[in-house]
Amino acid sequence: MGCSNIRVIAVALAICIGMTSPVAASVNGGTDCVLCTALVALVEQTMQIKSISASSAMSTICSYLPGALSVACDVALLDLGPKVTPYIEAGENPDAVCASMGMCKNDTGAYCHLFPTNMSDVEYVQRVSAMRNSIGPVRAFNICTIVPGVCQMENHLPFSDSDDDFFSTQPTLRGSDWRGKDCDDTNSSIFPGRNSHDRVVDENCNGIYGVDQLSGESYEDKWCAGTGAVGVAALGDSATAHFRIPPNWLTAANLSKDVFADLLSVLENEADWPMLSWSTGHLNASEFEPNIFGPMTSLYSRLVEHNRCNHRDYQNLGVNGARVSDLINFDTELARNRVKNVKPLIMIYSMVGNDVCSGHHTFNTMTTPQEYYDSILAALQKADNFLPTGSHVILVPLVDGRILYDTMASRIHPIGSTNNDVTYTQFYNYLNCMDISPCWGWMNSNETVRNTTWEIASSLNAQLPRLVNDTKGTWKNFDIHFLGNIYDEAITTFPWPRYMLIEPVDGFHPSQYGNAWIGDFLYNATLAAGILGPKNPNNAAIIAKFGNQGGY
Ligand code: CA
Repeated sequence: MGCSNIRVIAVALAICIGMTSPVAASVNGGTDCVLCTALVALVEQTMQIKSISASSAMSTICSYLPGALSVACDVALLDLGPKVTPYIEAGENPDAVCASMGMCKNDTGAYCHLFPTNMSDVEYVQRVSAMRNSIGPVRAFNICTIVPGVCQMENHLPFSDSDDDFFSTQPTLRGSDWRGKDCDDTNSSIFPGRNSHDRVVDENCNGIYGVDQLSGESYEDKWCAGTGAVGVAALGDSATAHFRIPPNWLTAANLSKDVFADLLSVLENEADWPMLSWSTGHLNASEFEPNIFGPMTSLYSRLVEHNRCNHRDYQNLGVNGARVSDLINFDTELARNRVKNVKPLIMIYSMVGNDVCSGHHTFNTMTTPQEYYDSILAALQKADNFLPTGSHVILVPLVDGRILYDTMASRIHPIGSTNNDVTYTQFYNYLNCMDISPCWGWMNSNETVRNTTWEIASSLNAQLPRLVNDTKGTWKNFDIHFLGNIYDEAITTFPWPRYMLIEPVDGFHPSQYGNAWIGDFLYNATLAAGILGPKNPNNAAIIAKFGNQGGY
């Protein structure tokens, strides 16, 4: 998460072209080392699977990439190819090849290993030095020259938004994949969530407009007014945004043009898939095959089934690496101010990991209970100033991340799928060796560390019912809810094997199956808590008149 997630995105890129990106503090080569190692591993495994030479394997992988990336890949090969080919041909381990290139270092006294080696540390250092002398310096690439949009993003608002209403007609770069699609990007008073009559124009983009000639009433008034129409906004972290790196990208046997076809879109979405997430999912996962499979159910998709008037009324403000101290700023990026005459909102604060997660090997950087309480309280006070009356706030606690190690430890990571030689224990230890784990506390082979992390997470979670209790009845414009440990309870009832809940590449985030399951669980919890009221009895009439409005 956070900078770590930016690194993981870079990993995905590096798999293709061995480029490096500027990242925060790490040791032993950090991201550059991970990138290089993954790339070399894929080249070696492609040689093995296809029985081809190193240079053929490298050109083959370059040829799978889209547009500019394919060109950059070929350019990179001109410099790198001849230097590293002899070592790859000789079957040197990817870790050793990347150490020789200077991408992996031994700042802490020893090199980090993703793959097993039978060399001693001394032999390894000697071998690496000999190889380095003959390879020479290696040039790095800048991610921003290839995917400039990503580097121009300074906030979490749509990059393409002509009327500045925070809604876009373009899907990526915080557009309609993240927030309901704008149905008029030239008029700032036309946007999803508006509370309007829509006699002539669909001012809230839910597809319902015009006048019923019999009654003289507008359809919006006739079928939506008084039905409890409500929008949903999720302010959270990478789990809210549905972070995912397609495992095909790290599985040599599956590399192809098809699996990289959506590479640029994935990067423009910060490697997040909000359009398939538990909170604001609204597309079918089948549209993104072969890079994602599984069901799609979200709180938003169920809210639309509940009331067709809610169509397009969603906002995903999930940000990789965010923690509770970010909530107050995310409030300002919400498009929901009662001054603009908008419908009520179900706003979810869902920071489920980063307050106890980082790459640092310490408990000291974790959020304290008082900081946790104060950050959420401050964000709520700000939200009460702008949210429309009748809104709801749901507080989601941190997940018990011990499920990650307990479930994944001995399973094989996609990068080890060719030879069954990399387990998640090795993968987690490898990231920790370079201080770039998204979560040292959970992704750790030391059980005491994992249990202590849970003690701290529990002490934070205990603040939520306290906060609800302390403030209930004091909010002017919303009701506040703590619906229990949503993620943990959803996990307990998950009907398939537990590993299917977890993203294969990062071994950290909820999978597509996990997202759909959590989305359904949260909808049911929201319904049970009385937040929603009855279904809109006009749904069938709306569908008959205006169509099903699937997707966008
Ligand atoms: Ca409308």
